[in-house]
Amino acid sequence: MTVLKIRKGDEVQVIAGKDRGKRGSVQEVEPQKHRAVVAGVNISKRHQKPNPQQNIKGGIIEEPRPMDVSKLMLVCPKCGKATRVGHETDENGNKHRVCKACGEEIRTQGEGS
Ligand SMILES: [Zn+2]
Repeated sequence: MTVLKIRKGDEVQVIAGKDRGKRGSVQEVEPQKHRAVVAGVNISKRHQKPNPQQNIKGGIIEEPRPMDVSKLMLVCPKCGKATRVGHETDENGNKHRVCKACGEEIRTQGEGS
């Protein structure tokens, strides 16, 4: 199984493609497909036809589409830089991620100790 460096709740920066330079938080990760959905990034617009029976209003719906994680770089919560991520194992055998820029451990919501 592939371990992605990006996890749900991370802040990431886009490093390639039309949204290059944008930042957003990761909403969803699809490890099998090596993709992630980032809020406000890779937005696709689609036209929604109104359907009163299902209480759906018509209009243009904007939603983020999954994008390849190779186009994303993690933003370190400590130093605020888009950074490479390293992995370290502590004395208890727990693996965690570290920022290669400042050396701080990177934690996200849902990542317990
Ligand atoms: Zn850092």
